[in-house]
Amino acid sequence: MSRRKLVAGNWKMNGLVASLAEFDRISAGAAAVSGADALICPPATLIAALAGRGLALGGQDCHAKPSGAHTGDLSAEMLRDAGASAVVLGHSERRADHGETDAQVRAKAEAAKRAGLLAIVCVGETLEQREAGQAVAVVGSQLAGSLPEGATAAEVVVAYEPVWAIGTGRAATPEDVREIHAALRAALVGRFGAEGENFRILYGGSVKPANAAELFAVPNVDGALVGGASLTAAEFLPILQAAA
Ligand code: PEP
Repeated sequence: MSRRKLVAGNWKMNGLVASLAEFDRISAGAAAVSGADALICPPATLIAALAGRGLALGGQDCHAKPSGAHTGDLSAEMLRDAGASAVVLGHSERRADHGETDAQVRAKAEAAKRAGLLAIVCVGETLEQREAGQAVAVVGSQLAGSLPEGATAAEVVVAYEPVWAIGTGRAATPEDVREIHAALRAALVGRFGAEGENFRILYGGSVKPANAAELFAVPNVDGALVGGASLTAAEFLPILQAAA
């Protein structure tokens, strides 16, 4: 089974108009890498400004409804209209800061499909859950609750992001990643049959140029969701090259 790797950058709440030059450096470097897909998810305020500058763009969240009285929210259709082709959903920072549930993430994934956006659905256990031996059960439950019925690999990418590895500089070990990605693959095949083999499963959590290659060598790791190291071309491009 050959799945083309995807390296998606999550800029989180970072990026001003002044960041356009760095984006252009990332875009120019990514254009020279043909063996893997690249995507940057900037703050939504920058999507329209960055659209058409050569690199695929994603949002970091969306509302489940297409429009309406939801002050401060953005719909999947709006992200698409601004130039996005993807959206990150259920990131642990959204789950923690905004109390997002699996059911809400699932509704947002359905909205992404409705708008024609690729949904990057995040799952991941906390340190307490890992230390209690619950990691496989937690991510399995999040996956089951967050993915829409009948989802396909063309519509959904899964991202395993252990909460304790995000922004800490402490990436999961290849052994940890192997175990969880194998469990996620088995769950996808169990639910979606042969199509389950086609879903890309990204690893996220302190991916850097120094550890990208060993993480990409783990079976069922089909790319990365990258936070801090996606903010500069100097860090993002070596990660993309390691995936190619
Ligand atoms: C993320 O925000 O999804 C992430 C993985 O962050 P970092 O790479 O900084 O750990």
